Amino acid sequence: MKMLSFGLAWLLLSSAVAVAQINTVQTVAPDVYFHAGDPRRGHSNNGWIVFDDFVLVIDANYPSGAKVVMPQIAATTAKPVRFVFDTHHHGDHAYGNQLWAEGGATVVASTRTLDEMKQVETGFFGGAPGRWESAAKNRPDVAETKLKPPVMLFPQDLFLDDGRHRVELRWFGAGHTKGDAYAWLPKEKILFTGDACVNGPHNNVNDGSLTEWIKTLDRVKQLGAEKVCPGHGPMGGPEIIADQQNYFVALLAQAKAQLAAGKTPAEIKAALPAISAALKQDPRIARYVPGNLTAHLTKACVELGGQPLPK
Ligand SMILES: [Zn+2]
Repeated sequence: MKMLSFGLAWLLLSSAVAVAQINTVQTVAPDVYFHAGDPRRGHSNNGWIVFDDFVLVIDANYPSGAKVVMPQIAATTAKPVRFVFDTHHHGDHAYGNQLWAEGGATVVASTRTLDEMKQVETGFFGGAPGRWESAAKNRPDVAETKLKPPVMLFPQDLFLDDGRHRVELRWFGAGHTKGDAYAWLPKEKILFTGDACVNGPHNNVNDGSLTEWIKTLDRVKQLGAEKVCPGHGPMGGPEIIADQQNYFVALLAQAKAQLAAGKTPAEIKAALPAISAALKQDPRIARYVPGNLTAHLTKACVELGGQPLPK
């Protein structure tokens, strides 16, 4: 009982800390900042690094998120934002690009991120309406702006180094998307991960590959990051990468057991509460288990050769 109440108190405390961080600036190291976005508005986290002559921003956010973070950046430095780095193509990380570009920034991303934009933002690229058009129906901030794809592209890596600061934009393999790229600060051992690593039940698994994701995070771990700034949820240490990876390992193991037992998609769907409870038994990964596990388990089953679960 004592353990339970301690656990509950810790949970309440940690969620209070997480809430308190939203829309506030945290100094990660001198000239390196982290800003936790407001999940109620769909905003992603942001980071920025103040170089001698300019600022590099990590993720463009939604347009409304960009408007929240722009004055926060201006409060830390008078230097201009010259580069904004989309960690991947999702709207909450890239739809704000236009606002940054209008402010004089060049939008940077991995080549695969642009490739994925061409596949899903087909309206912009001359095809049938895509995700941007869908988002514009629900979000005035998107409807009031336009899609601005990245123009500075790197197949693998792009480094910025002015002698004082070095930031390595690096692609390690598919995960949350095929284009996931990271911002790595080797001197400070700080890693900005985008949604390749989140801290909480924020994983969207629809565009990537769980199997590849686990392998990619193995490579990411080799960096030896000491501070990890995720795409969503509060900042933490290297445990965030390990916990994120372990969650997917456990999720795939659950799916594998269901398929090995010959369960139908409907039977697996019926077992979701038990699977969810089993995953939550590991305190390191419990925070990654979403309220509705259908999409995650569907992804895991399909990757293992099974069928999607009923919706
Ligand atoms: Zn994403």
